[in-house]
Amino acid sequence: MNETTVKTRFAPSPSGEIHLGNARTALFNYLYASARGGAFLLRIEDTDAERSRPEHAQALMQDLQWLGLGWHEGPQADGAHGPYCQSQRGAIYADFYQRLEDAGTVYPCFCSDTQLKLARKAQRAAGQPPRYPGTCAHLSPAEVSSRIAAGARPTLRFRVPRDTRVDFVDLVRGPQSFNSDDIGDFIVRRSDATPAFFFSNAIDDALMGVTHVLRGEDHLTNTPRQLLILQALDLRAPSYGHLSLLVGEDGSPLSKRHGSQSIRQLRQAGYLPAALLNYLARLGHSYSEESFATPERLAAEFSLERLGRAPARYDPAQLRHWQKEAILAASEQTLLAWCLQTLGAAPAGCDESRLSALVNLVRDNIETPQDVAAWARRLCGDLPPPAGEPECDALRGAGSAFFAAALELAQVSEPAFGEFAKAVGARTGAKGKALYMPLRIALSGAPHGPEMGRIWDWLGPRARGERLRAALDYCREVETAC
Ligand code: GLU
Repeated sequence: MNETTVKTRFAPSPSGEIHLGNARTALFNYLYASARGGAFLLRIEDTDAERSRPEHAQALMQDLQWLGLGWHEGPQADGAHGPYCQSQRGAIYADFYQRLEDAGTVYPCFCSDTQLKLARKAQRAAGQPPRYPGTCAHLSPAEVSSRIAAGARPTLRFRVPRDTRVDFVDLVRGPQSFNSDDIGDFIVRRSDATPAFFFSNAIDDALMGVTHVLRGEDHLTNTPRQLLILQALDLRAPSYGHLSLLVGEDGSPLSKRHGSQSIRQLRQAGYLPAALLNYLARLGHSYSEESFATPERLAAEFSLERLGRAPARYDPAQLRHWQKEAILAASEQTLLAWCLQTLGAAPAGCDESRLSALVNLVRDNIETPQDVAAWARRLCGDLPPPAGEPECDALRGAGSAFFAAALELAQVSEPAFGEFAKAVGARTGAKGKALYMPLRIALSGAPHGPEMGRIWDWLGPRARGERLRAALDYCREVETAC
């Protein structure tokens, strides 16, 4: 890899399952690197010991792998810039803190949370924006030593230069300019000696050679702080691009309240990775073609110019649309594995080879493996008696004379469905819906589904005969009862 090669990264904090928002961030970074022959790096930002859990890190790696967003560098992969979990990089950070301390760019701060809260309150009351008031900015070395000797555990604050501007060109939002006086001295090391986000995140991007950072818009105001840290340490900053937020239908940030689920829940519900990728790639990014795309095509057409600045709205109907597209595009093998994994086993009466054929038969009519299981109940083995109102009505409406004719005609020289239906129509006088709907319900148990010709062939003569007889018996029973 040479100096100019693109390197992007995904840097999640393992405090829970990954949701659509983080998955989209990971995807955009992955696509941007892939399209340019670059590298995609994974870094686990687990410095917050209270909220981070190794099992969340494991789970998020599995989710990324499942989505097909493998990383070239990071935990469980090669790379010359490890360790890739921030909790293991303490010695590296210590060295950079020392450099900042030597340069006088940071200072220990002994202010308690209560003191800071009070200061903020007073500033607000005076109509000023809340900033660190600089209480500890000029303590003498002797004072610092005596407080530490007395057991105080200071944070370390970055001394923000006064009255300068921090400018950068955001990859998505264009030129940005911040006044350093609006920033206020900020914490780079917490009182428990763990690094603050601004610090470890910025240092690691520089040390790991990250060239481009695409991340959520909520980080936009962190960027000037991070640029100041990197500048103070003479480290190279990546180019930052801030992605528009994902919002629910009401325009507020996407959450469970909007029906948003984690990637894991979506996987368990039967979504295919290709469906999620096609959906996420279009959330805040436009493609010239609206057709289903492979990851390669999503990458080839991914461009920063096509990233929108307006919030991207979560739409479950669109997600289902891409699920249907992904099912149509998937190989037979993929769909078989999908069903077996989600359902745990092939549905009763349907071994694996029959299941594969069944999935092909009903591809147009399913969204989940549970839908396949429902079709297996209808199309493999005995058809359960009609239960739904529309099904019963359609059978009753056709009546026993209709099914007696149908049964007889079905047994004549194994006709193709078209011929058979025509003959039933001619014999009974039924036409259109009145002809086709009772036949569909009698043969498949449902008012919608694959083409009747395909169901007819799938069932074969014996099952067709049994099902038409069952419909006939049902009508006779209902008619005698009346
Ligand atoms: N750990 C941070 C987060 O999950 C990373 C932010 C960034 O991408 O820089 O929000």
